[in-house]
Amino acid sequence: MEAAINTSTLEDTSALETDTPALESESEPEGEPAFRRGAAKGHRFFGGGGRPGMHQRSPLTREEKTAIRKLSAKGVRGAEIAKRFNISINSYYNFKSRLNKQLGLHNIDKEALFSDRPRLIFRTQVAEPQPRRGRRGSAKQTPLVASLADVEAKRVALDTGEAIPLVPREVIPPLKDWVEQNAIILDGNPFTFNKHEYLIEPYSEDHPYTIDEKATQMGLTSLRMLMVMYRAKFRHYRGILYYFPSKTDVIDFSRTRISPLIEDNQDTLGNWIQETNSITVKKLWNTFLYFRGMNSTISLKSIPADCIVFDEIDEAQEDRMIMALKRLSHSQFKEVAMLSNPTLPDYGINKMFQRSDQRYWMLKCPKCNQYTCMEETFPNCIVEWNGKVVRLCQSCRDAELNPSVGEWVAKRPSITDIRGRHFSQLFSHFVSPQEILDDYRTTSHMKQFYNLTIGTPYVEAENRLDVQQVLDLCGSDGIESSDTGPCTMGVDQMSHSLHVTIGKRIPEKSGKLVHIGIYKDWKELDGLMKNFHINRCVCDAMPEMRNARAFADKHKGRVFLNFYREHQRGNYKWDEEAMTVMCNRTESLDASHHEVQEGMIVLPKECDIVKEFAVHLHNVGKDLEENEDTGSKRYVYKKLGEDHFRHSFNYECMARQYQVDLLFPELL
Ligand SMILES: [Zn+2]
Repeated sequence: MEAAINTSTLEDTSALETDTPALESESEPEGEPAFRRGAAKGHRFFGGGGRPGMHQRSPLTREEKTAIRKLSAKGVRGAEIAKRFNISINSYYNFKSRLNKQLGLHNIDKEALFSDRPRLIFRTQVAEPQPRRGRRGSAKQTPLVASLADVEAKRVALDTGEAIPLVPREVIPPLKDWVEQNAIILDGNPFTFNKHEYLIEPYSEDHPYTIDEKATQMGLTSLRMLMVMYRAKFRHYRGILYYFPSKTDVIDFSRTRISPLIEDNQDTLGNWIQETNSITVKKLWNTFLYFRGMNSTISLKSIPADCIVFDEIDEAQEDRMIMALKRLSHSQFKEVAMLSNPTLPDYGINKMFQRSDQRYWMLKCPKCNQYTCMEETFPNCIVEWNGKVVRLCQSCRDAELNPSVGEWVAKRPSITDIRGRHFSQLFSHFVSPQEILDDYRTTSHMKQFYNLTIGTPYVEAENRLDVQQVLDLCGSDGIESSDTGPCTMGVDQMSHSLHVTIGKRIPEKSGKLVHIGIYKDWKELDGLMKNFHINRCVCDAMPEMRNARAFADKHKGRVFLNFYREHQRGNYKWDEEAMTVMCNRTESLDASHHEVQEGMIVLPKECDIVKEFAVHLHNVGKDLEENEDTGSKRYVYKKLGEDHFRHSFNYECMARQYQVDLLFPELL
């Protein structure tokens, strides 16, 4: 049904692709206004003179054209308009038919278009012979409800002469209705909410900032995929960016999800796609859809966008995401959707989910009418009951729960700017409670089980330090202001502060921290070098390399700038000449992590700054990361919050491990 209007308007809409009004952009390829050409024809027809006064007219200005459009839209008679603008009636009709053609209106009921309130539009099906201009064919007329919004957009364009404006919200069907009414084929089957009842609300709402923390196979990528197409169709965004972690993901997604979706839905989507050859760019109606890999800097170049989707953000680098979000800076819509399997707590999607209103799908008990949150009560909510494994009501513990019967409930309803949802296979119809319980009992990959099946973040205890675990290492000495040394120092720099850790070797343990502090200026560090008899200091080289280098110059041979090298293994490379040290980031962080974990370090007496130090140590977590492109796996420490003391301690640790045993340390 929709094919009719789709095919007929596809070429016509090309004139609307640019920001300039349709009339200027296509009808005047030689820079000659359409009216003038019309007049020129008349000029020849009338053998030179034309009607008196007619051919003398200067080309219509843009304002005049807009005025003509408006009068025409209001239903003012053509003869009247021609007279008012001193043009021939033929020129007027040429103009109008050209304009209508460009706007794709030539065979749509114009009365509906020009009425104040949009209503049902009728038109002749394209399969029937096309009626000639000026005459309506007798073919059966078919209502086209879904195209109402498109027509409305064109109507406004006609009225104002502006580029396609935003479609008024009241005429847009919700995404949920759109996919159902158009019988979208998804993964080879007609779209249905049957057994996916938890998706009804996400498909029905229209929130500009959504976070989906999810288990695998919950239908969320499909939702966002259909959402961007729907947005392109009804909201006329300039650009929509759909990000995946890597380029390989983009190609896979485009080939295995987008292309079949377009092919299976020719009438609803296929006919609207204007650039089908490219894997990474599609043009749908007036909107460019870009599919990009986040882990490539080239792909993030300035593309203006009104909507960005981040799929699997936990696999992408956080700074890349921040960079990508800048693409929205000039948008009036600024729509963001993030979806991902979680990995570590406080990281990536989980960090974003914590900022949201945190909605959970609560299952309603058929017996006691109370609600159970499966994720919160796992593993207790899955039990053997009456001879089989079921989801059991946690209130009465006397009824089996049906995943279809539930409600989204926000944990933090006061938050309205970010909408967050948690999706777990615990309420999937396609994974049985028995399978989940078996997996839970037998898996040797607990992190993977929680991340992918339950949809919650997880970190093995040994991969993240606990705040209390750090504070347990506090000794009885306070923060010192000097020491006879020799001491070692680590400096983590930010643009306006320097986090400093000073330690020294002691018998029986790896070391003892004597001073922890936050400073503003490198000059203050000169005093520390002297008072603590620092014989080796490691500084963060970034972000202000110049300042760090000047400091190293001042204390030549004792201060080294640190650079992490991914492929370096084993011993750190100290370069006295260049005043640098190179090492593998994970290896160096492992070394300092173990000092704390094994209790090999003594901290100052517990106080505020030591507590802050402990929190910073807690704010990194070690995770196994897979490079999608190469398949190689490596452990990475990820930032889960403020972590400056974690790094300054790491630098101190590097310095202490490689401290030179001086014969005369007192000379420092
Ligand atoms: Zn119950």
